[in-house]
Amino acid sequence: MATVTLQPGKERPVVQHHPWVFSGAIARIQGRFPERGEVVDVQSASGEWLARGCWSDGSQIRVRLFTWNPHEPVDDALIRRRIERAIDGRRRLGMIAADGACRLVYAESDGVPGLIVDYYAGFLAVQLLTQAMALRSAAITRILAEMLAPRGIYERSDVDVRDREGLPPASGVLWGETPPERLKVRLPGDLWHVVDLSAGQKTGAYLDQAFNRLRVAAHCAGAEILDCFCYTGGFTIAAARAGARRATAVDASETALSALHDGLALNNVTIPVETVAADVFQLLRRYREEQRRFDVIVLDPPKFAHTQAQVERATRGYKDINLLAMQLLRSGGVLATFSCSGLVSSDLFQKVVFGAALDARREVQIIERLTQSPDHPVLLTFPEGEYLKGLICRVW
Ligand code: SAH
Repeated sequence: MATVTLQPGKERPVVQHHPWVFSGAIARIQGRFPERGEVVDVQSASGEWLARGCWSDGSQIRVRLFTWNPHEPVDDALIRRRIERAIDGRRRLGMIAADGACRLVYAESDGVPGLIVDYYAGFLAVQLLTQAMALRSAAITRILAEMLAPRGIYERSDVDVRDREGLPPASGVLWGETPPERLKVRLPGDLWHVVDLSAGQKTGAYLDQAFNRLRVAAHCAGAEILDCFCYTGGFTIAAARAGARRATAVDASETALSALHDGLALNNVTIPVETVAADVFQLLRRYREEQRRFDVIVLDPPKFAHTQAQVERATRGYKDINLLAMQLLRSGGVLATFSCSGLVSSDLFQKVVFGAALDARREVQIIERLTQSPDHPVLLTFPEGEYLKGLICRVW
């Protein structure tokens, strides 16, 4: 096994169990140069053993650490133990039900960097995001099949981060049955969703918002709501079930809006729901000109900042939509505003919303702070695992 020696002074994050070693922290490699995804030891500049992980030659993150115990090999048994523990955590949360859906394994936050496993009513959707996980695809599939006896396991490694890892996108059946195009799953609050594991966004659904939809729905009785970036209508369905009067749901994706209609039927939603295939930025401006007004507006945009260099531009985007939404709210109305850009801190996000409120000349109170659902835990040693932030605001 190769040994990666760190530059002097670069051991601190490793000692504190942060799971990433960046290329800039590495002084040299001893032993045979590691292959992609191979296990390596990491030592300090003075030669003290620190941790063990997997090598990547494609990413700036050269080593992802799996253990800080010198006696623990990084092998299939370790991956199995970590997956078992992750699933146990979800079980204790009461989030595992035969017809339900939740994130079973959340990569670094569950001690398995690069591996995401989502459960959808008997099927598993898997993302292998690093060279190490891609290399171990067969073993991971076997472990999951043995442990959970799912109907099928489907790979959804068709994501941008694979690119940065020097891996091509990959998707398809890894094991068992092909998931149906319209799989019905039950989410918290007994809300039913139609999920397409093979072609939907992410692994089919935005599971991280499952509980937040209920928190927002609590403000929707009798309300007219505008659900921006609605995807398959998670917030609209929750709002309708909580007694909303009418809803307008907006997304750029026609496919998502068609699934939204299935979802409405599945949940016996009878209130008027208008779906609009449009760019939210443009539509909000049009609504402002038309002087449309709403009682509740949800803003759940996609990730605007993928790199540090994009943060400034992202904040302008967040400010723009938040300002417009505030202008469309009736006095005393509710703005539920989210950011899933990990690089935009909650502090910065709140400042952006503050800037929007100033420009909109509205008085805004935060009535609740939201984050990703508990099946997306945040490991204290890996704060990067926290990415979703939301504010429910009263806008006067
Ligand atoms: N609120 C959803 C998840 C939203 S994900 C839920 O609860 O499940 C972000 C969505 O924004 C995606 O569906 C994507 O199609 C859509 N989108 C991205 N850019 C957009 C734009 N400029 N205008 C409208 N929709 C957009």
